[in-house]
Amino acid sequence: MKRSLRSLDGAVLDGRRALVRVDFNCPLKDGVVADNTRIRASLPTIRYLQERGARVVLLSHLGRPKGPDPSQSLRPCVTELERLLGAPVTFLADPLGGDAATTTKRLARGGVAVVENTRFHPGEEQNDPALARSFAALGDLYVNDAFGSAHRAHASTEAVARLLKPAVSGFLMEKELSYLGGALEQPARPFVAVLGGAKVSGKIELIEHLLPRVDAILVGGAMACTFFRALGLETGTSLVEEDRVALARTLIDQAGSKLVLPAGAVIALRLERGITTRSVPRDRIPAGWAMYDISEETEREFAARIGAARTVVWNGPMGVFETPPFDHGTRAVARAMAAATATGVVTVVGGGDSAAAVAQAGLQDKMSHVSTGGGASLEFLEGKELPGVAALDDA
Ligand code: ADP
Ligand code: MG
Repeated sequence: MKRSLRSLDGAVLDGRRALVRVDFNCPLKDGVVADNTRIRASLPTIRYLQERGARVVLLSHLGRPKGPDPSQSLRPCVTELERLLGAPVTFLADPLGGDAATTTKRLARGGVAVVENTRFHPGEEQNDPALARSFAALGDLYVNDAFGSAHRAHASTEAVARLLKPAVSGFLMEKELSYLGGALEQPARPFVAVLGGAKVSGKIELIEHLLPRVDAILVGGAMACTFFRALGLETGTSLVEEDRVALARTLIDQAGSKLVLPAGAVIALRLERGITTRSVPRDRIPAGWAMYDISEETEREFAARIGAARTVVWNGPMGVFETPPFDHGTRAVARAMAAATATGVVTVVGGGDSAAAVAQAGLQDKMSHVSTGGGASLEFLEGKELPGVAALDDA
């Protein structure tokens, strides 16, 4: 499974056009980038290419447009990139136009161009070779730095990497694969996974892939309630996936003491900001009440296990962190991970909502690595091969 990819470091770059797939899929608000995290994450690769005299041509998707849609143009990302680079960036509105390749050749050494949203073309999501050829004509080598899009076989992530050689990994891609892959392949032990989120159904393959690799899985979120039901407990109106209770039972038996369920729950009559809550042992959830967070006692237990680990991977919030006070458990886990990082524990956060929760707590710089790819990190941790990675050259 372990594969060494051909790196950007060592590629011949001077004067060559580097076609770089980045992930500029940023949230927009009123036509401006509301969160530039993903753009900033691609800067090491972009700057490296600039410094070595490459002509840099960037490809990205944004949102889920069905064909050309001005409200999902990459132009706001171009503005933000210009601000971050402190230099003008060329915008290529039509990569299929006859003069697109000429424009890329006329870029100055170290110059940067951004191609309009790849998803404006139906061929993108169809992994269409014709569209990939048009993209390939814009570069002399291909660099994939879009880990967050690597789980999709699209024209700009997969087909183009098979056409334009060399096809190498960018620095963000390398960092993602080294942290996530390192945890799976050679974790410093104890290796603890913290899993949460709404649905156990979306995390089954993750649990199955992690179980033989980890020393413990700490379970929070609504997911815990399906396990509670499997233990025969009353779960009130908590979110339970009835059709997964039997599977949860099997996982409990398989996992033995590795699977750590919350000892206590924070419950409420409904999900509402600031509503009255109670903290109860997990076998005391009354009818009519729902679990929306882990209890403080469980926070302390999880924090202690995180502190005693050498590697921690976290996917999925511990509660409904969008609705205070049910953000308490998630924040506690984020703080425990930040404290662990400071003592040398390798801490990796995967999953879009978990990453958002860490950012909300202002702790993203206190983790070893926060993945920029929600879906991609989940699939990677499930042991799946990512098509965008598979298409890249071996070292
Ligand atoms: P990630 O994006 O990090 O992989 P998920 O998408 O699996 O995480 O889960 C995130 C969602 O889980 C959040 O919207 C959160 O509100 C929800 N959630 C967590 N705990 C509970 C709970 N006890 N009841 C209902 N929803 C929950
Ligand atoms: Mg999510």
